[in-house]
Amino acid sequence: MQGTVDGEALLRGASLRVTRQRLAVLSAVHAHPHADTDTIISAVRAESGAVSHQAVYDVLRALTAAGLLRRIEPQGSVPRYEARVGDNHHHVVCRTCGLVADVDCAVGDTPCLTASDDNGFVIDEAEVVYWGVCPDCSTRPVTENA
Ligand SMILES: [Zn+2]
Ligand SMILES: [Zn+2]
Repeated sequence: MQGTVDGEALLRGASLRVTRQRLAVLSAVHAHPHADTDTIISAVRAESGAVSHQAVYDVLRALTAAGLLRRIEPQGSVPRYEARVGDNHHHVVCRTCGLVADVDCAVGDTPCLTASDDNGFVIDEAEVVYWGVCPDCSTRPVTENA
């Protein structure tokens, strides 16, 4: 577990009713950044016992819509959720194992928003995904049939 989450304050701040399932999902996502839905469901069950897939899906959808969670879906990956919202940070994704890590925007500047040609648009967001191989995978011996 990484730190503690004041889930009640977050839910109230988003004008959402505070429920045990919402609190459990929030704390599971805080504890497992970029987790997929299965991981979140296991974490929620470990904390608060039986809960249906559908209930967790519903909570994830509600919390994402309220801006308390961010959903990312790298190409070829299942949807993943994180509690770090509002800073539009980027992600680096391992091509081999699918590990996702955060990449901060360049501080004090937004070079990624300086499009070479803005086509007359007012641009306020750039979606960047870095692809590569994570440290674990790059040091793992390559097997022929992998
Ligand atoms: Zn990897
Ligand atoms: Zn992230």
